[in-house]
Amino acid sequence: MSTSGSRFVFSEWPPTLTDDQLQALTLYATTYALSHGLLYLPPIKPQPRVPNSAIHAPLSVFPSPFPRRLFSLARRLQNTYNLLYARIATDVEFLDNVMGAIDGVGKVDDFVGQLWTGWKNLRDEGIVQPLQLGLFRSDYLLHAGLNDEPPTLKQVEFNTISSSFGALSERTAALHRYLYATTTYYNAYPAMKPEDFPANNTTAGLVEGLAAAHSAYNVDGAKILFVVQDGERNVFDQRWLEYELLEKHSIHVVRETFDQLATSASLDPTTRALIVGGGTEISTVYLRAGYTPTDYPTAAQYSTRFLLERSKAIKCPSIPLQLAGGKKVQQVLTHPGMLERFLRDEVPEAQIAELRDSWMTMWGLDEDRGVEKARNIAQQLVLKPQREGGGNNVYKEAIPAFLDGLPPLERQAWIAMELIMPPEGTGNYLVRAGSEEAQSSVKAEVISELGVFGWALFGGQDGGVREKEVGWLVRTKGKESNEGGVATGFSVLDSVLLVDD
Ligand code: ADP
Ligand code: MG
Repeated sequence: MSTSGSRFVFSEWPPTLTDDQLQALTLYATTYALSHGLLYLPPIKPQPRVPNSAIHAPLSVFPSPFPRRLFSLARRLQNTYNLLYARIATDVEFLDNVMGAIDGVGKVDDFVGQLWTGWKNLRDEGIVQPLQLGLFRSDYLLHAGLNDEPPTLKQVEFNTISSSFGALSERTAALHRYLYATTTYYNAYPAMKPEDFPANNTTAGLVEGLAAAHSAYNVDGAKILFVVQDGERNVFDQRWLEYELLEKHSIHVVRETFDQLATSASLDPTTRALIVGGGTEISTVYLRAGYTPTDYPTAAQYSTRFLLERSKAIKCPSIPLQLAGGKKVQQVLTHPGMLERFLRDEVPEAQIAELRDSWMTMWGLDEDRGVEKARNIAQQLVLKPQREGGGNNVYKEAIPAFLDGLPPLERQAWIAMELIMPPEGTGNYLVRAGSEEAQSSVKAEVISELGVFGWALFGGQDGGVREKEVGWLVRTKGKESNEGGVATGFSVLDSVLLVDD
C-alpha cells in the first residue's frame, strides 16, 4: 500500500489480502471472540431464562485508521465534556427551560415530559441524595477536509445513559492486537507497528466510576443495582462490568428489570434507603434500561423509575443527567456564551474553543425559519428527536416529506444537524454474527465512529466534580446505512489503528 508522502490515504484502506489469508484471519477472529467473551446472546425470542449459547459480536477484521492527533484530541476533550455535563445536570433552571414540560421539549415530547414531571415532583418533595454518577460516551466521526486539507473531529452525540460497549470494545481492541501478533496481518500493511494499536482499558475505568459512587455511599454490605431490559442480548458487555466489580473491588451486583423491581424494590420510610429482594441495600443504581419509551409500556414502569429516583441510592444517571443528554441540549449548547456559562470559571478559553470546534452546525426546527432552512439544505442534514438507541433520525431526501407531515407544535422536539462527511473510500472486512452457515467476511466501504468513555461523580455540597476519561470504542457501519448501532444490527465492533495524516 502506498502513501502520498508520509500522509495516510484513507481510500487505500484496507490492505489487500488473498482469499486464503482472509479466511484464516476470519477463523482466528471468530475463535478469539468466542473464547474471550466478545459475545452476544443469539436472537431468540423469548430469551431462555438461563442461556445455553452465545454468538460472537459482529466485528471487523482490520482495525480502522484514525489520525493520531485527533485520537488524542478526542480523549483530551472528554475531561471537559465530563465537567460540562456534570454542570448541566446540576443546573435546574437550564434543564427546566430546555427540557421541562412547562417551557421546554417536555411540553411536546411525552417521554421527556414524563421524566421531567417525575423529577419535578421529587424536587418539591426534597431530594435525599445529592450525588450523581455519569458513565458517559462522546461519539465522533472524522469530517473530511476540503481541498486536500486533513480531516477534523466532529461530535455526533453525547450519551449520558446506558452508554454501552465499553467492555466489548476493550475486547475488540485486544482481538486486533492478537491478529497482528499472530499473523502480522500477513504483512499486507508493512507500516503497521505495535504502538499504533492504542491501549484500551475501558472495563476497569467504567468500574472505577461505579466503585467511586459505591464508596461515596459508604454503607457496608450495600450492593450495586444494574437495571436491565427484559430480553437484552448485549448481556456480556454488562456482565464484564459485574465481574470486574466483584473481582477488583469486592462489590456485589444485583440485576433486575423494571418489572422485577416493581415487586422487589422498596424504600426505607425514614432514610429512603433503596432495599431490593427483602433486605439488600443498594448504593448505586446503574441504568442499562430506561433510556427509551418502550422501556415504559405502562405507568407502572415510570412509577418504578421514580421510586429508584426518590431513593437515597446514587443514580447513574439521575433523571436530570439523563435529560442533560438530550439532543436538544446538544443543540442549545451551540448558542453563543452557553459553554462559557457552564465552564468559564474552570476551563481556559482555548480549551472551550477546542470543544466548540468539534461541533457541526445545529438549530431547532421551532426557530424562526428553522423548517425553511432545513428544507433548503435537506441533502446535507439529519433531523433528530429526543431519543436514544438508534433508528429515530430522519436523513437527507427523507426530510422534506417528513417536514410536510410534522405538526408545527412538535417542531420543538426536533433538532437539525449538518451531516458530517467522513473521508470517502475507506473499507474493511466485516464479519457479521448469528448466521447458521460458516462465517465469512464481506468487504465493504465503511464509516467508523469513535466513542470516548468517561465518568463523573458530582453534586455534593462542595460543588466539586471528580471525573476521568477511561477508554474508547469504534463502531463501523457499511456506508450505505445512515445509522450505526451495533445492538440494532447495522454495524460491527472495531478498534483504532493510529495513523499520521
Ligand atoms: P442515537 O442516539 O440514536 O444513537 P445518534 O445521534 O448517535 O443517535 O445518530 C445515530 C447515527 O446516525 C450515528 O451513529 C451516525 O452514524 C449517524 N449520524 C448522526 N448524526 C450524524 C451527523 N451529523 N452526520 C453524519 N452521521 C450522523
Ligand atoms: Mg448514537
